[in-house]
Amino acid sequence: MRVNFLDLTAQYLTIKDEIDAAIQNVIDHSAFSSGPFVKSFEENFARAHGARYCVGVNSGTSALHVAMWALGVGENDEVIVPTNTFFATPEAVSLTGAEPVFVDCEPEYSNIDTRQIEEAVTGKTRAIIAVHLYGQPAQMEAVKAAAEKNKLLLIEDCAQAHLAEYKGKPVGTFGVCGCFSFYPGKNLGAYGEAGAVITDDKDLYSKMLVLRDHGALKKYHHDLVGHNYRMEGIQGAVLDVKLKYLRKWTEKRRENAGLYRKYLEGVKEVTPPSEMPEARHVYHLFVIRVSGGQRDNLMKYLEDNKIYTGIHYPIPCHLQQAYSFMDQSKKGYPVSERYAKEILSLPMYPELTEKEIQYVCNKIREFYK
Ligand SMILES: *Cc1c(COP(=O)(O)O)cnc(C)c1O
Repeated sequence: MRVNFLDLTAQYLTIKDEIDAAIQNVIDHSAFSSGPFVKSFEENFARAHGARYCVGVNSGTSALHVAMWALGVGENDEVIVPTNTFFATPEAVSLTGAEPVFVDCEPEYSNIDTRQIEEAVTGKTRAIIAVHLYGQPAQMEAVKAAAEKNKLLLIEDCAQAHLAEYKGKPVGTFGVCGCFSFYPGKNLGAYGEAGAVITDDKDLYSKMLVLRDHGALKKYHHDLVGHNYRMEGIQGAVLDVKLKYLRKWTEKRRENAGLYRKYLEGVKEVTPPSEMPEARHVYHLFVIRVSGGQRDNLMKYLEDNKIYTGIHYPIPCHLQQAYSFMDQSKKGYPVSERYAKEILSLPMYPELTEKEIQYVCNKIREFYK
């Protein structure tokens, strides 16, 4: 048996007719950039998360960047971010001219350690980005409290957490805005690159609309220097089709996580991810921790058995070459640094079968025999 890390074709085949028709429709209308298909998706996506507005853009990185840009985050500002995240989170901060300030993750749930936020605040801190890593919401009550106490803008990086909830409230609605990625491998994936920002703030919404389209609301009348961050029509149409299935697919991911837990029970060298009782984890990734320095050997063993896994992420952001000028290494982020050596992401997608999950877990058991 072969178990891929991800299988986008399997999903496509379940909705092929609808997808093909949607793409053809965009071509028939020549609505390739922005336009009615993007608009329709924006409305539906905002509604799915209980937000008033949604701005579709051309990537999750653009979503983070355009949100901070519109909020006036820039030079001489600092933005607090977890170091245990995908590089795009701090990268978007740097793109505004502001400086990312890293905070370690807490050991159990691997999101930002809210007890360390306070220490990271300086007179220059403007915002904090809460990342809902792997599909599990950050501890939003504590993050929100820290943001309010220090008068910081709260931005959520929901790139891995479509439809996730904290205490029954959808992610992306706790602060001023929520930024999403629709990179093909994400829980809601485009057939190309795409992203979006949701918000209830009308001024922020208007500003982002202008910035994503060359600073012009009216064609050829440029009020600002913006960028071209428009979403493609084909992506809007594909996402609108897929959005209808997202709840069902998310349930499947959660079921698959349950099956992994069941079949990994008793393998004491491997720790499955902890689920916060107050959160609805949407399992973008199923990340186990491997003790005893065996992670790379286990990964290799699984690969030899045609089981493909990943590491998210092998190098915490503060140790990336791009941020070496900050010399953050002296400060140390021991939890994230240890974590990076122990984690292993097992195959996870809605179409994964129980047989495949069982096979993966059996091979993990076999490795320890
Ligand atoms: C994928 C991702 C992004 C960036 O999204 P792109 O669409 O790839 O630009 C940002 N943050 C996190 C946490 C991500 O996983």
